[in-house]
Amino acid sequence: MAKVVCVLYDDPVSGYPKTYARDDLPKIDHYPGGQTLPTPKAIDFQPGTMLGSVSGELGLRKYLESLGHELVVTSSKDGPDSVLERELHDAEIVISQPFWPAYMTAERIAKAPKLKAIITAGIGSDHTDLQAAMDRNITVAEVTYCNSISVAEHVVMMILGLVRNYIPSYQWVVKGGWNIADCVERSYDVEGMHVGTVAAGRIGLAVLRRLKPFDMHLHYTDRHRLPEAVEKELNLTWHATREDMYKVCDVVTLNCPLHPETEHMINEDTLKLFKRGAYLVNTARGKLCDRDAIARALEGGQLAGYAGDVWFPQPAPQDHPWRTMPHHGMTPHISGTSLSAQTRYAAGTREILECLFEGRPIRDEYLIVEGGKLAGVGAHSYSAGNATGGSEEAAKFKKSA
Ligand code: NDP
Repeated sequence: MAKVVCVLYDDPVSGYPKTYARDDLPKIDHYPGGQTLPTPKAIDFQPGTMLGSVSGELGLRKYLESLGHELVVTSSKDGPDSVLERELHDAEIVISQPFWPAYMTAERIAKAPKLKAIITAGIGSDHTDLQAAMDRNITVAEVTYCNSISVAEHVVMMILGLVRNYIPSYQWVVKGGWNIADCVERSYDVEGMHVGTVAAGRIGLAVLRRLKPFDMHLHYTDRHRLPEAVEKELNLTWHATREDMYKVCDVVTLNCPLHPETEHMINEDTLKLFKRGAYLVNTARGKLCDRDAIARALEGGQLAGYAGDVWFPQPAPQDHPWRTMPHHGMTPHISGTSLSAQTRYAAGTREILECLFEGRPIRDEYLIVEGGKLAGVGAHSYSAGNATGGSEEAAKFKKSA
């Protein structure tokens, strides 16, 4: 029987929710483009409940224990004394979410001789050293599309929030003020602005579609070009290089995976190519950007605003400069873990586990690594290598409540 270690974020400080703001979730039949939602044989949870925190257990306990497997659920994931490190020696499956990632470095994989699978309950498996997983023939899978639209909605919210100066204006209200001029001295309309996405995959394209009705000029760059019909429908301008696109954009949004080819692609030099006063929104991965170069660009005015929900490492230490740099609209990593998204990726994780335990193939669209090489969606979107370097810094985070 297998030991499954599931690393999840902590419950709310006020305790696991007993009630919810809404009674149900809208019904979605399929994802854009036709991909089906997760299809586990059954689920043991109420859709719309908190599944991603420790007490929610991704709704997996009943299923796993009914098969005789052991389920260990913990939020303790960083540093040598963490529960995750203690449990690795006989773990066969490790599950975690990118919001609170179990960094599966080569060292950790070496400490887990029985490890067969690493599952991302969400999208983005850069917290696993993919090269080490390939070398050890460990399967890596994620729940493709489960939260792509959730993130696209967050991107649109953040673009509007930055450009219209929403957060400082909200803060004036809370402070008891009526400071119109203070609110609007950095407030603009997005109408007529040029917005560009680095990558037009599931999220990037969904962002473009959602921004179209705002009458913005839409740009993108990607390794593969979108079908001509889509370019025409959205009146898209394609750029052969990211650098060409930065030069013409008022707003840039990053929607590509983190892998060795994209790590630190936004840095001191590439930021110089941006228009002065551009806005940058990054909900893809913190490490796509050079941390200190972003802070300097905001302080010096090269960027007018930066927002996103992804950091490196996660959780970000209290002294991470993105917490205090000017003109930012950062959230913790939440865009892909709305209650709506949790329901989908909990079901997707269950589907992947059913495949593993029943010896059935995992859908291609969920596979990142299999049989010692990049596979499925991983072969299409990732490059081999490791992007986990520096993740031990996550142990510096101190819980504040
Ligand atoms: P997709 O795989 O649908 O899209 C990724 C796109 O990135 C593909 O079109 C791929 O190109 C493109 N790409 C890869 N490398 C490059 C590169 N070097 N330059 C330009 N484009 C590149 O994934 P999603 O849209 O669903 O997700 C994108 C990323 O967003 C995830 O990898 C993850 O890191 C992040 N994410 C964040 C979440 C959050 O909660 N904040 C939740 C979900 C995802 P091609 O296929 O043409 O090779």
